[in-house]
Amino acid sequence: MIFSRVCRCCLCVFVICCGLSAGCDSTTIGAEAMTDDRYAQEREQMVQKQLKRRGISDERVLSAFRRVKRHLFVPQNYLDLAYSDQPLPIGHNQTISQPYIVAFMTETLDLKETDRVLEVGTGSGYQAAILAQICQEVYTIEIIPELGRSARKLLADRGYTNVHVRIGDGYKGWAEHAPYDAIIVTCSPTHVPEPLGKQLAEEGCMIIPVGKKFAQELIRLRKKEGELVEESVLPVRFVPMVNDGGKRY
Ligand code: SAH
Repeated sequence: MIFSRVCRCCLCVFVICCGLSAGCDSTTIGAEAMTDDRYAQEREQMVQKQLKRRGISDERVLSAFRRVKRHLFVPQNYLDLAYSDQPLPIGHNQTISQPYIVAFMTETLDLKETDRVLEVGTGSGYQAAILAQICQEVYTIEIIPELGRSARKLLADRGYTNVHVRIGDGYKGWAEHAPYDAIIVTCSPTHVPEPLGKQLAEEGCMIIPVGKKFAQELIRLRKKEGELVEESVLPVRFVPMVNDGGKRY
């Protein structure tokens, strides 16, 4: 049952800050508080019904989902659906991922507070914000400049000093900050990119959707004595990982 939902869950993103106006008149402030309150309730329902009920149990992950305001990461015209159980379009032919998939991938990485993580496919920046609540440093790469810039601004405006956004081709990883304790790939190549394997630390964990255009397998890889040990965890469907020319890897 979960799988059929998961399969619909193509990832991806666009970022638009919902920009609550900083008015000083009391009516405006009252309205803002009510809106915030409504979103807080929707967030808690998302955690209970979409995450806990489906088996997400890591308290650090659940707490990150309670704290990060997902409605800031979706376009204004989708605000009403910000906490719904589905991916949402975000422009540039991309979508923001279904909350459950973000949670599942995060939990699967089994992160420690001291971990340094690489994400490929920044999109809206939502996944990066979730990771930033749990681990020490997040390095994230986005190939579409407009998305990368929006995510960078949104995350900086929200005070995330431990997220570093780079615009470029994530197939090649980000060698300057390697090795990474964990790597999360949120777009899908046909194979595991060799540079990412190299940039994973010993005992590090990578989660990546690999396969054909419309049917992929989420794979978890762990590096043991320099070799990547592979395990299939879930059938999924993500947007493709592409190169600078838009061709799929
Ligand atoms: N993690 C995102 C969702 C990502 S969707 C979030 O939480 O919102 C996948 C993203 O991967 C898209 O934004 C797409 O532009 C990007 N992408 C595709 N190929 C890429 C590549 N080679 N390097 C970096 N990003 C890439």
